[in-house]
Amino acid sequence: MTQTASSKLRPNSTPAAAAEELVAENQALRARMTYLLEQAERNHSIMTRHQAFDLEIVGAANFPELIGIIFRVLPVISELDSVTLTLLDEDADIREVMLKLDVVFEDFPGLIFVEEVEAMGLELAPRNAQAAAPRPQLGMYDARRHATAFPHPPAGLQSVALVPLLRNKRIIGSLNLGSCDPTRFTPSLGTDFIEHMASIIAICLENVISNEMLKYIGLTDSLTGVYNRRYIDRRLLEEIARARRQQYPISFMYIDIDHFKRVNDTVGHGGGDDVLREVSRRIKNELRSSDALARFGGEEFVVLLIDADLDSAAFVAERIRASVAGSMIVLSQELQLSVTVSIGVACLAPGEAEGDPAVVARTWVAQADARLYVAKENGRNRVISRDADSAAELRNVG
Ligand code: GH3
Ligand code: MG
Ligand code: MG
Repeated sequence: MTQTASSKLRPNSTPAAAAEELVAENQALRARMTYLLEQAERNHSIMTRHQAFDLEIVGAANFPELIGIIFRVLPVISELDSVTLTLLDEDADIREVMLKLDVVFEDFPGLIFVEEVEAMGLELAPRNAQAAAPRPQLGMYDARRHATAFPHPPAGLQSVALVPLLRNKRIIGSLNLGSCDPTRFTPSLGTDFIEHMASIIAICLENVISNEMLKYIGLTDSLTGVYNRRYIDRRLLEEIARARRQQYPISFMYIDIDHFKRVNDTVGHGGGDDVLREVSRRIKNELRSSDALARFGGEEFVVLLIDADLDSAAFVAERIRASVAGSMIVLSQELQLSVTVSIGVACLAPGEAEGDPAVVARTWVAQADARLYVAKENGRNRVISRDADSAAELRNVG
């Protein structure tokens, strides 16, 4: 350094002037050095924070946790004024599954779903062009052009980066970064860092989304879309424990379609499947969102009613019976049929939920099943909610 500095000294300057120049140059070099050190420290700190962020998102156990981290942590570590996430959800599958898994979308106002890639606000090469993967798009914020990516822009938003999220060269969404600093995202800015971050986010998103889908498939009956037996078996144990703690009644309904073999014989197995879907829809219509409906197998459904005593459960059961029997099921213009259901209801009153929850669940379900059997014996299309000696049949048809 000294060599560089002294080589610049004017040949015939006085020793005093030369010394002064040296001091000045030395100072300038020190200042530059301090600046570079500060920059290096800052970059190191940004990198450390981003590494911590990467670790955190890789460890996210589910979809809400992952997007929660992105929205909470990224604005802080990247010093951004807005971070939103657009997800491509062509058939609304992601939304449907997340809703079913109780994701509260209102908690994530920065989460945007679009049904086609063109709606994301990214500038894309024409579909048939042999285009390379789309790159991040950086520049000034434009309220009209960026309306999808920033539905609630912060006041003073100036520059933005729309970063495509890619998996196997396919766009799955876009990470949208916004800053009130107009020089933050300019088209000439290098994007390696942003692209690296986007690729990790894309992998994590794909991973949690497919895990959630698997979870959903594992708990859902594929024919009707209601829960399956595995789900209800587990939920029963949880709800028995909760009812015991909170001392409220819970009720269970066993619903079986009457003479379903005849339905299949009349309209074929495919028509029978349509009937199962329609019956499950009618049952669901009569329930509250806290109640759980599952297909237990074949043409049998069960309902778990939270905070419902025997009378209110029997009342809901009667509404279900009436709704199924009340109007024909239309399979096609020429094909309509009428079906009925029989229902057995049992309640677990506060104080009755003591002991091993698995044993309690078995006894309770068996009680509803026994009452269903009585409903069948007594002529079908009816609800039975009490045992013979205190018979309280809500309706007696035929
Ligand atoms: P009951 O009034 O006594 O309940 O008479 P049922 O004919 O409904 O009695 P059962 O429970 O013996 O018959 C159920 C029938 O449901 C037998 C089976 O062929 C049919 N089934 C079971 N699973 C499915 C399914 O996924 N789709 C269709 N279409 N039919 C099914
Ligand atoms: Mg049946
Ligand atoms: Mg049956």
